[in-house]
Amino acid sequence: MRTSRFVIILRAMIVFYIIWTIIGWAFNTPINNKQWSPWFVLALSVGTILLYGGFGWVFVRIGMAILHGNDPEYHRFLRNGGDPYFASLPWPFNPDSRVTRVTGRQEPKTTFVPPADWLFQCPVCGARVEHRIDICWHCGYGSDGDSTAYFD
Ligand SMILES: [Zn+2]
Repeated sequence: MRTSRFVIILRAMIVFYIIWTIIGWAFNTPINNKQWSPWFVLALSVGTILLYGGFGWVFVRIGMAILHGNDPEYHRFLRNGGDPYFASLPWPFNPDSRVTRVTGRQEPKTTFVPPADWLFQCPVCGARVEHRIDICWHCGYGSDGDSTAYFD
């Protein structure tokens, strides 16, 4: 499962709260200003998220609709709960792996070790694979017929 939007927003709140606390400390300690209460820092954090998150979300959704509005792949992604904005956020906001962001599925925890004579590598997850162009046993890359990443 993807990390929920609620949890991602909560993580963003914590990150911005820490950032604004540090900024407040850096600016206000030298001038001995004590006006930056915890509530003020919280309000700044919420404001930052509404401003950047709100604009970012609208921008990404409109951009993706223009670029991929006719792409059935994109509609499948949306139908299975994907959101292009939340999927694009880096750690520490979104802690999901690339595979989880795209498919909404967790990567398998496996103890399988590829045989020593498998000398090629999956261009997406780095797992060793048997053939130069292969369907990856680990992340499944190539199973949808798209192997273009092998040529990048
Ligand atoms: Zn792979």
